[in-house]
Amino acid sequence: MSKIRVLADHVANQIAAGEVVERPASVAKELVENSIDAGARRITIEIEAGGRRLLKVSDNGEGMVRDDAVLAFERHATSKIRETEDLGAIGTLGFRGEALASIASVARVELTTCVEGASAATRVTIDGGRMRDVKDAAHPRGTTIAVRDLFFNIPARRKFLRSEATEIYHLTNLVTHYALAHPEIAFTFVNNGREVVRAAPAKDLRERAYQIFGAEFLENLLEVNGGDALVARVTGYVSAPRDRRTSRDSQYLFVNRRFVRDRMIGRSLSEGYRSILPHGVYPAALLFIETPLEEVDVNVHPAKTEVRFRRSAAVADAVREAVRVALASASYVPPPESAPVATATAAVSSIAPQPRIEFVPPPPPPPVVQRPPVEASGEEIARDIEVMIQSAQSFQSAKSAFPPLNSAEKFAREVTPESLSRNIRPLGQLDESFIIATDDEGLLLIDQHVAHERVLFDKYRALEAERRTDSQQLLVPETFDLTPAQAAVFDDLAPELEKYGFELMRLSGRTVAVKAIPADLPTGEARNMLAELLDTVDAEKKSAARDTMRDEIAASLACHAAIKVNMPLAPEKMRWLIDRLLQTSSPTTCPHGRPIILRLSTRDILKGFHRI
Ligand code: ADP
Ligand code: MG
Repeated sequence: MSKIRVLADHVANQIAAGEVVERPASVAKELVENSIDAGARRITIEIEAGGRRLLKVSDNGEGMVRDDAVLAFERHATSKIRETEDLGAIGTLGFRGEALASIASVARVELTTCVEGASAATRVTIDGGRMRDVKDAAHPRGTTIAVRDLFFNIPARRKFLRSEATEIYHLTNLVTHYALAHPEIAFTFVNNGREVVRAAPAKDLRERAYQIFGAEFLENLLEVNGGDALVARVTGYVSAPRDRRTSRDSQYLFVNRRFVRDRMIGRSLSEGYRSILPHGVYPAALLFIETPLEEVDVNVHPAKTEVRFRRSAAVADAVREAVRVALASASYVPPPESAPVATATAAVSSIAPQPRIEFVPPPPPPPVVQRPPVEASGEEIARDIEVMIQSAQSFQSAKSAFPPLNSAEKFAREVTPESLSRNIRPLGQLDESFIIATDDEGLLLIDQHVAHERVLFDKYRALEAERRTDSQQLLVPETFDLTPAQAAVFDDLAPELEKYGFELMRLSGRTVAVKAIPADLPTGEARNMLAELLDTVDAEKKSAARDTMRDEIAASLACHAAIKVNMPLAPEKMRWLIDRLLQTSSPTTCPHGRPIILRLSTRDILKGFHRI
């Protein structure tokens, strides 16, 4: 007997749904994309219970005639492509014809739609992939799709949904993304009857970003306008180097107005900031990459969040250079030699391809220890870079005399907790950033910033555990505006922050007043720290484990309150820091997992001098 059988449609659809419908936000993504493809000028998204009970998207797009409304739920039913060749140049957001079939197979769906001039609208009802009803209804031109009880027929999937707050966070983020990518479309987002986002049609990205994020956000951004039309135009905004995040969550990347998560673009963006931002720190960005349609393959992933570029190296160059030019025009870096500022705008109309000048790799990193996570002013960074360049130059000129880089790395080792001695004697500072000290086994380099971070982290965690707070009242409360996504997590995060000595008050709408902050935190750091936490303490981590979130708050506080690099320390201060460090729970690694102490053992020194 043969064993192979073709799966029934509803089973096949549920399998496809596994790839397309991960959570309420992925349903919203598909529906919003359909509305955009239908030429809508107004899109409204309404949710209840984090999108599980209800997720409704209405638009005023072209709508569907009755036959299409029924056909739309078939797998591989699409109006957007017809032939294989069409896959080569996709100008719509959708094209796989899978989304509606997938969604309908795992929820109760009601679609109401009407085309211009029709005598009546059509309402189609489908439950778990089974068509229940098709009838006349009333609806103006456009389409409304209500998706209820997501995963009602797949308990295993339902179990994997996160807390309501988490889902709301993802949904808010998603709506924000699409609203930014399509300023000309009016967006409204309603959560449990409350309007969270309301953006009227805007004339450009700048105006839309203002509607969503407020004036303060825009003030701190640098405009990007570069690349060329033949390979990739790169436009949008990036943050100034002083504005920094510890994750890529504030990077909004779009390719031909499709929201993507692309590692290559993320990397090129970071390369644009090379030598300005330390490792592990990310800029915020709103970047739009426009390429000719045939230059990019969007048919890579069912959720269409990944793309493949035909000339990916050239696109990477364009992104990096455009970011570099933006930073240079604000004098953060010297202007790149290969791309004068003017080409950015001139390139749009130019017909001849811009000659691509080969990318010269940056000088090798200096043969000293890894760069610490700095929290420094522009001036300090400039000094830092100078030191790096100098040591890189001296490294290059003295290359032949130096051992290869990796042997230098082996030379100084991370100190393990077991080999840590209590008998540490500070001698001085290197670059006003690292304490030079000795112990019984050799020479030590202690990263002063991360060492202090560890001390403060332990202190904050202990205070919190004992339910004591140590805070300073601000003379004048500081106010700041939350982004919609930050506002979605604020209410959950605020009680946790208060345990650490913050006093926060939600004023009207998305404005928050800070009345008190933890005792050691410099006043100027409070705002940065709050923004960073609200952006990165993902609601997911919160509901997963309160402890994880508390650690994250303590780590962030410690980082912002700790002494910086490039800061001279008096001998007593070094002594104090080492003593305190030795009393902490983990004197050899910082709360983010980086090493605090490196050791050059006496044995290795002797070997180096050929004495043993
Ligand atoms: P795809 O978007 O990949 O074509 P979908 O399953 O998302 O596949 O949608 C199937 C078809 O239903 C679309 O090709 C489109 O013709 C139609 N459709 C879906 N949503 C809408 C809408 N909001 N307005 C008009 N037509 C729509
Ligand atoms: Mg679609």
